[in-house]
Amino acid sequence: MIRLFVRDDLEAGMAVTPTREQSHYLGHVMRVNVGDRLRLFNGRDGEWEARVETVGKRDMTLLAEMRTRTQTVGPDLDLLVALVKRTRMDVIAEKAAELGARRLRPVITERSIADRTNVERLTAIAIEAAEQCLRVEFPRVLEPERLERVLANWDSGRRLMFCDEAGDAPPAAEALAAAGGTSWALLIGPEGGFTPAERARIREMPNAVPVSLGPRILRADTAAISALTLWQATLGDWRSGE
Ligand code: SAM
Repeated sequence: MIRLFVRDDLEAGMAVTPTREQSHYLGHVMRVNVGDRLRLFNGRDGEWEARVETVGKRDMTLLAEMRTRTQTVGPDLDLLVALVKRTRMDVIAEKAAELGARRLRPVITERSIADRTNVERLTAIAIEAAEQCLRVEFPRVLEPERLERVLANWDSGRRLMFCDEAGDAPPAAEALAAAGGTSWALLIGPEGGFTPAERARIREMPNAVPVSLGPRILRADTAAISALTLWQATLGDWRSGE
């Protein structure tokens, strides 16, 4: 069944107007007609079954009928990733949504190749992935911030899984299991890696848990996917009973 993220509130009998792009997708790509059913979510009110009420040339109206899932929030997991090439940032936004990150925080490091990114595009990618993977919310994408500033304002209740390719960190799954806890962030460096000064700064943080992702050097997007997977399997909602 088609799932769409909408900005409107959702409750029984509420009329919802999809955006122009969504109407185009529904009408011209998916060829929906009056009476067809689809699912809607807005990140606040759970998931709703809706019926197509009117179909115009450029817009349509949907009617929310019945709640199919209550609103839930996933694990308290941030993904901090140094700005990397656009195509890799796009992959990271999609996978952050599929793999259950709550926030995507791009950071600017000394070797980052850029100091800005298109937050709107990354948000759109995260929303599309959330629609596809049956989430009832999606990761918020924050504006890029300098790493040193992020570390200076660090929340003392949040652990930091520092993905350190230098080779002397313990294996990720073991380090995570030993650390425990529920509020976490994962940190992935840029194509050129972290500088020695950055590594030292991160490692001196009391909340930092340096980890290795194995003996091979992974691309940033592969490292992000691997770190999210290991965290979900060890401490997150991939465990039984979660
Ligand atoms: N140091 C390399 C360089 O000079 O190009 C590679 C950096 S790697 C492409 C990007 C980031 O992925 C690293 O900073 C690290 O956070 C993470 N990463 C890659 N392979 C890793 C590994 N085997 N263990 C831990 N982290 C890894």
